[in-house]
Amino acid sequence: MSTPIRCLNYIDGQWQPAQSGEMLEDLNPADRREVVATFARSGAADVEAAVAAARKAYRGWRLVSAPTRAEIVFRIGEILRGRKEDLAQLMSREMGKTIVEARGDVQEAIDCAFYYAGEGRRLFGQTTPSEMDNKFAMSVRAPVGVCALITPWNFPVAIPCWKALPALVCGNTVILKPAEDTPACATALIDVFLEAGLPAGVANLVHGTGEEAGRALVAHPGVDLVSFTGSSVVGAEVASVCGRTHKRVCLEMGGKNAQIVMEDADLELALKGALWGAFGTTGQRCTATSRLILHRDIKQVFTEKLIEQARQLRLGPGTDPNTEVGPLINESQLSRVQRYIEIARQEGLKVLLGGGPARSEELAHGHFFEPTILDEVPPTSRLAREEVFGPVVVLMTIDSFEQAVELLNDTPYGLSSSVYTRDVNRAFRAIRDIEAGITYINGPTTGAEVHLPFGGVKQTGNGHREAGSAVLDVFSEWKTVYVDF
Ligand code: NAD
Repeated sequence: MSTPIRCLNYIDGQWQPAQSGEMLEDLNPADRREVVATFARSGAADVEAAVAAARKAYRGWRLVSAPTRAEIVFRIGEILRGRKEDLAQLMSREMGKTIVEARGDVQEAIDCAFYYAGEGRRLFGQTTPSEMDNKFAMSVRAPVGVCALITPWNFPVAIPCWKALPALVCGNTVILKPAEDTPACATALIDVFLEAGLPAGVANLVHGTGEEAGRALVAHPGVDLVSFTGSSVVGAEVASVCGRTHKRVCLEMGGKNAQIVMEDADLELALKGALWGAFGTTGQRCTATSRLILHRDIKQVFTEKLIEQARQLRLGPGTDPNTEVGPLINESQLSRVQRYIEIARQEGLKVLLGGGPARSEELAHGHFFEPTILDEVPPTSRLAREEVFGPVVVLMTIDSFEQAVELLNDTPYGLSSSVYTRDVNRAFRAIRDIEAGITYINGPTTGAEVHLPFGGVKQTGNGHREAGSAVLDVFSEWKTVYVDF
């Protein structure tokens, strides 16, 4: 086993330990005997230093022209491209994602860098006619200031880039507080940022727990904006602190995504979609399919095939190229998934497949859970309403398209959604009537490419979108300008 990677904070252009001097451990989810990394246990004092550095750097960075800022972001993309395989291997080891998915995660970050590098030459404002004589009216984008970026572990390179790169192009300085389970990916990413030539203090990294470093950052009066991706429970707390301390806040939270399969669907395609949607990334995606809404006419045949194919999925460490389903991220996530299966049993739900940790001895030291399928789950069940965040999918039966859409919408969340049908009228009605930020017709529930808006409605978000040009409205303020002449 290799020596653990030592992950320090990066503040004002310097790698430095936390002021507590303490380091925390980050374990390999596929084999918890291995410590992949140790990371600084930061607290209020470290946050104070990072905010001071970001505030100081903001004075200069906001005056650097947007195309020049964007050139550095372009270099970030080039360096990421050169390190893609190394970063993907690290990610697979650190958080258990299959190597193919890990490469995809880094690729998203690369795409993001090149896309926002282009935005640096656009950052369009507007000119608008004024009703008054001899006045020129326009609106321009101004940066927001110091942005706290709080990120989860499930897309440990892509999500920090979705936030940091547009924030930097818009002229903000940033402080990244990454998840406790992926400090090594965050450290490797900041290493790329500094090699690309960002001036000291423009991008800072503060490791630590959410309770200590995260809370201190959200509450700090020197932070102007918090961009948070994570669970809805924590998001609600972040939003209330930002409300009390008058900060802008962008929230990307949980999902309870559904795939509808109608009787006229291409069943092989729908099956492929369901397998990827439910069990890809071990179900640990905010866009994972956790409900399958099946038309009664195809329910039995679809379910039989689903069970047969899900049973054959190969569990293993993400770094093994044969693995199709990696481990859950940590012990507490494993317990959480197990608790939901107990709830399912108490509710009298039928377990068609899985329902427990992997039984193989080879996997005994990791957090592996069998792909699990639960049948005839009523919409009132906790399994139909709450985010499990594991390889667990519930089946529901419907008799009509209208009933399917109603059931799909019957959840507190609204991120991704999917309908398999060959009927174009149903497809367009789905696009109109589904309450979600993303709707796929004949594709699995997943996210979107970097140039399209990404986010959700209801308890998934607070009205903002990440990615695309939509995120520029998060990381810049509109300023209206009149010039008399
Ligand atoms: P989490 O909410 O536990 O943690 C997310 C981040 O918040 C971590 O960096 C954590 O340290 C920090 N944090 C925790 N408590 C905090 C506090 N009190 N104050 C400030 N920061 C705090 O989420 P997680 O387990 O890392 O990620 C899984 C969740 O993220 C799932 O609910 C998933 O749906 C969601 N997610 C959403 C999206 C999206 O774009 N909608 C994308 C990926 C993940």
